[in-house]
Amino acid sequence: MAGLVVGGVTITHPERKVFGEDGPSKGEVAAYYEAVARWMLPELRHRPLSLVRCPQGSTGPCFFQKHHAGTLGAHVHPVTLEEKGGDEAEYIYVDDVRGVLELVQMNTLEFHPWGARADTPDKPDRMIFDLDPAKGVAWKAVVAAARAIREHLSAAGLESFVRSSGGKGLHVVAPIRPGPPWAKVKSFCEGVADALVAEKPKLYIAEASKAKRDGLIFIDWLRNTRGATSVTGWSLRARPGAPVAMPLRWEEIARLKSGGAFDLTKALKRAKALEADPWEGIATLKQALPSG
Ligand code: ATP
Ligand code: MN
Ligand code: MN
Repeated sequence: MAGLVVGGVTITHPERKVFGEDGPSKGEVAAYYEAVARWMLPELRHRPLSLVRCPQGSTGPCFFQKHHAGTLGAHVHPVTLEEKGGDEAEYIYVDDVRGVLELVQMNTLEFHPWGARADTPDKPDRMIFDLDPAKGVAWKAVVAAARAIREHLSAAGLESFVRSSGGKGLHVVAPIRPGPPWAKVKSFCEGVADALVAEKPKLYIAEASKAKRDGLIFIDWLRNTRGATSVTGWSLRARPGAPVAMPLRWEEIARLKSGGAFDLTKALKRAKALEADPWEGIATLKQALPSG
């Protein structure tokens, strides 16, 4: 069987379409990840990962995989972590483009890291606010919500970063110096979400209840928990049109049309033209979670 070698990894069935007949092939997906790896890996590497694997492409059944299996690839590493119930299990992490491409060979389309590193899983170093607009919410309101979170974080001494999710919304991410446990980080995030709701109860909701979300933006702070993930920047989404989750500079959201504005082709162009990481500085910021 003829394979295509991308970044030293053999991709089998490279011609197989993975986003429907008019969309990119498995080989093109591999070439995409090789091309964006330089920008994607800083956020992805050395974190426990969940994968979205789609053996028959994004139009077929896909599944979330969080546990390591022996056959994923030589650069796809296991890390033993404690599970909720107290048992241990092997999770997945990668450190390099070969690991990413080996996962693509295993039909991975999406990459979802934890907000903590593999060697310090109990000490989060990222907090995330996942903005989920209900149907019919104006895009401008989602942009305003992201800016409002940025301001609240800034008032607490925290710089933050924004990305489009590749789906409906935006994610606001703030790095923190590892130290405080998940519970502390989560409760800080809940406080920020509650403050926004208190300011604009007709725009925002901070409760997970779907029933009450009509017409509102759900500020999902619940992702700040051990084992929860969010999609990484530059990851494809297994959705029609091959959209991509895209890290942006804050100024860029003024012109952004939707959470799914970037697709594989646009993301590839951006990766080639970029001079600096839109999230430049995130890895070196030394900001502590406000105590309280
Ligand atoms: P959208 O903008 O369309 O909401 P999203 O990536 O933010 O896209 P969400 O459903 O809001 O999607 O989920 C937020 C994050 O939670 C995802 O990026 C993913 O990492 C994680 N997640 C969502 N659904 C699942 C699931 N079924 N199993 C595991 N993790 C999930
Ligand atoms: Mn979301
Ligand atoms: Mn969500």
